[in-house]
Amino acid sequence: MSFRITYSVLDADLSQLHAEFDKALSGVRGKLGAEHPSFISGEPWRGGDLLDSRNPANQELLGRFHRTPLSEVDRVVRVSREAQKKWGATPWQERARILKRAADLISERRMELAAIMTLEVGKTRLESLGDVEESADLLRYYAGQLEEAQGFVKPLARLSPKEDTRSVLRPYGVFVVISPFNFPLALAAGMSAGVLLGGNTVILKPSEETPWCAEGLYQALHDAGLPPGVFQLVHGEGESLGAALVSHPGIDGVNFTGSQPVGMEIHRRLTAQSVRPCFLELGGKNPAIVCRDADLEAAIEGCYRSAFGLSGQKCSALSRIYVHEDLKRDFIAGLAEKARATRAADPSLASTYLGPVINDASVKRFERAVAEARQGGTVHAGGGRPQLEGALAQGHFVEATVVEVPHGHRLMRDELFLPFVGVTSFQTLDEALHMANDCIYGLTAGVFSRKPEDVETFMDRAEAGVLYANRRTGATTGAWPGVQSFCGWKASGGSGKGGCGPYYVSQFMREQSQTRM
Ligand code: GLU
Repeated sequence: MSFRITYSVLDADLSQLHAEFDKALSGVRGKLGAEHPSFISGEPWRGGDLLDSRNPANQELLGRFHRTPLSEVDRVVRVSREAQKKWGATPWQERARILKRAADLISERRMELAAIMTLEVGKTRLESLGDVEESADLLRYYAGQLEEAQGFVKPLARLSPKEDTRSVLRPYGVFVVISPFNFPLALAAGMSAGVLLGGNTVILKPSEETPWCAEGLYQALHDAGLPPGVFQLVHGEGESLGAALVSHPGIDGVNFTGSQPVGMEIHRRLTAQSVRPCFLELGGKNPAIVCRDADLEAAIEGCYRSAFGLSGQKCSALSRIYVHEDLKRDFIAGLAEKARATRAADPSLASTYLGPVINDASVKRFERAVAEARQGGTVHAGGGRPQLEGALAQGHFVEATVVEVPHGHRLMRDELFLPFVGVTSFQTLDEALHMANDCIYGLTAGVFSRKPEDVETFMDRAEAGVLYANRRTGATTGAWPGVQSFCGWKASGGSGKGGCGPYYVSQFMREQSQTRM
């Protein structure tokens, strides 16, 4: 498939990029505090109580979003079922065309969308731009899958010359898509696009932390010509609105990215009464192994980026490092020095690398983790909360933290979703692989070694869906559409086919065999 990656951040003129971002940011600042509707049946819907979206860096009010009350859920599902009849019958070429048009609109609007994201999630500028560009690439890449497979109609063998048999992939119907805060556009866009291209309709319930980013996706799809009701946007909390949608008998499937316990709850609810497809991309506790022959500088850089990028709030974030005992001292010293030099700051500034974490619950989780690390191990860097001035003193800032704890410690087992990484040492690669695999999760993993045989052993034996070797741009993070499939094994996933990967769209369709005489 011909698919051209657009990741302008890599080779851009950064000063121009920052100037454009500044302009977009001041435009977005002029819109703060407004009321925003949900979108039902192609129309803005107001009338629910309001969900406030706030900036995690300073608590400023960004917007007030009309929650969709439970009393509207039946109507939302009905609208989706009705719209699906036409959308499922729309020629695949047209479905792909609309999604590609939406990708172009996202690209055109990338600065404004990135500025909204920096305010709403606390992502740094380049991370926000990367997220927006990933969204557009996901839409194009997935539309390309539908085109390459010619709508997924495949002639099969004939038993007699008069017989004509085809395998046809057809939509399931109506999907609820529940997307997380950390990639508020890329994950909402990618998960929705796969479902839509398959001829299904979508009810998107984004994280209650990021309703504004989700509205950006709605607008792009709407302006691209998606018919009313095919993609509806509802706002509310997961425990109430999300649960009501997932339990509704009129829903045919769910596509969810988020934490493992919530994913399991969704799965239980969805499948309680009937077999319905449930696609889950869940958490991680991702390890990197730094072998004795590693390029130490590359290993420190790769681990640093994956542990602290987006303040560690990625499913792919690095949270366990196994380092050969001969390198341990130098490795920890190098990583801790970089962590200490990384000051958490206002993410809307061009110079910031470490922004805030998303909310108060994350700060509390951080404080508890640090207390446990002090008891059961050593804190080599961070561990505190930075003192920031003015409105930023209200922000959810924590320090980039490196701790040394034994492999069996809780901090090497539970997902934290924080800029917090644990290190422990090993003597043999066998032992390192055993510890890396000794975990319920299996999302991403990395290795650093100059020995090709070590890399091959790692590739053969690491129990995770996404493997990286010697990657200084990210030991375990940074999958891109069409480049890496983002595929969770074990407790990290539930489909076996990854987002960003070549089999994504087809899994949202069911197979039908058609024989004609
Ligand atoms: N795609 C991102 C990466 O590879 C992670 C997405 C997520 O956290 O869900 O780093």
